[in-house]
Amino acid sequence: MANYTIGVDLGGTNLRIAAVDEAGRLIEKLTLGAQVALGRDHVVGEMCDAIRQVAERHQGSGELRGIGIGVPGIIDMHTGMVRQSPNLPDWIDYPAQSVIEKQLGTRVFLENDANSAALGEKWLGAARDFDDMAMLTLGTGVGGGIVLGGRIWRGMTGMAGELGHMTVEPDGHPCGCGNHGCLEQYASATAVVRMAKEAIAEGAMGLAQAASADPEFSAKAVYNLAIQGDEDARKIFRRVGRALGIALSGLVNALNLPMYVVGGGVSSAWEAFAPSIFEELRWRSMVYKATAPESARGGDKMLITRALLGSDAGLYGAARLPMLQ
Ligand SMILES: [Zn+2]
Repeated sequence: MANYTIGVDLGGTNLRIAAVDEAGRLIEKLTLGAQVALGRDHVVGEMCDAIRQVAERHQGSGELRGIGIGVPGIIDMHTGMVRQSPNLPDWIDYPAQSVIEKQLGTRVFLENDANSAALGEKWLGAARDFDDMAMLTLGTGVGGGIVLGGRIWRGMTGMAGELGHMTVEPDGHPCGCGNHGCLEQYASATAVVRMAKEAIAEGAMGLAQAASADPEFSAKAVYNLAIQGDEDARKIFRRVGRALGIALSGLVNALNLPMYVVGGGVSSAWEAFAPSIFEELRWRSMVYKATAPESARGGDKMLITRALLGSDAGLYGAARLPMLQ
C-alpha cells in the first residue's frame, strides 16, 4: 500500500503515462499515440481519459498524490501557461495547467520535458547520488535541465535550462528559436542528418550510398556508418562532440556541478562523440582541468556521463514533480 503519483510525458508523436510509487517503483506504464494534428483539446481529452483510467485501476492500492506532466516547450510556471511548443503547434499561450486541472478535478504540475528528464535522472538514474546536476537531452532537438539541491532550477519564470539554445558557433546554422549556431543545430538527431546531407553534397560516398538505400535516412544510420569506420560519418560525430564540449565547458565554468548527464536518442552514439567532448573541455575549461577525475588530486571529482533511464527519464521525472511539492 504505497502512495503513488502519475507522470505524463507528452511528446509530438507519443503520449506516455506511468504510475510510480514514492520509492520509484513502476506500477504501470502505457503509451498512446498523441494525435497532435487533431488539436490541443483532443490531445488533452485523450490524456485526461487515460489518466483517469490509470487512477481507477489503482484505486485502493494507495493514495494518488498528484499528477506531473512533462510538456515540450516554454512554460510560464507562475501562470501554468504553455507559451510555445515546437511539437504542439497550437499550444500558444495555452493555459494548459488550469484546463487539465478543471478536467481532472485535481492539482496538476506542469514542467518542461527536458527539465523532467533531468529530474528523472537525478531521482533514479545516472545522477541519483548527486543533489546538483545538469542534463543535456539529445533528441529531435536538444533539451536541457539543471537540478540544484534536488530540485529543478527554474529561474525567474520557469524557463531556465534551455541549454540546447546556447550558442556554440557565432554565425552558425540558423535555429528555429531565431538565433544562429545553437547547440541544437550541431548535436541533435536532426542536426546529424543535416550534416550528413551537407557531407553528401560535398561528395561523401559512404553516406550517399547509405542515404540512397534508406528512405528514412536517420542519425542512427549515420552512426552505423561511423562505427564501421566511415571517415565522413565519424567526422560528423566529432562535430557533435565538439559542439557539446563547447557548451559543457561553459556550463562547467559557470556552475562547477559534480555531475553532467548526456541522454536522449543521440546519446547511444556516445563512443563516437565523447572523445571530442573531453578534448574540448581539456583546453576550454580551467574548472574542468582542476576537477576532472584524472586531475582532481584527491579532491572532489566532477563527472560527465551517459544517462541511464533512456526514454523513461522524462516519465519518472514527471511522476516525481508532485512528490517534491
Ligand atoms: Zn536555438
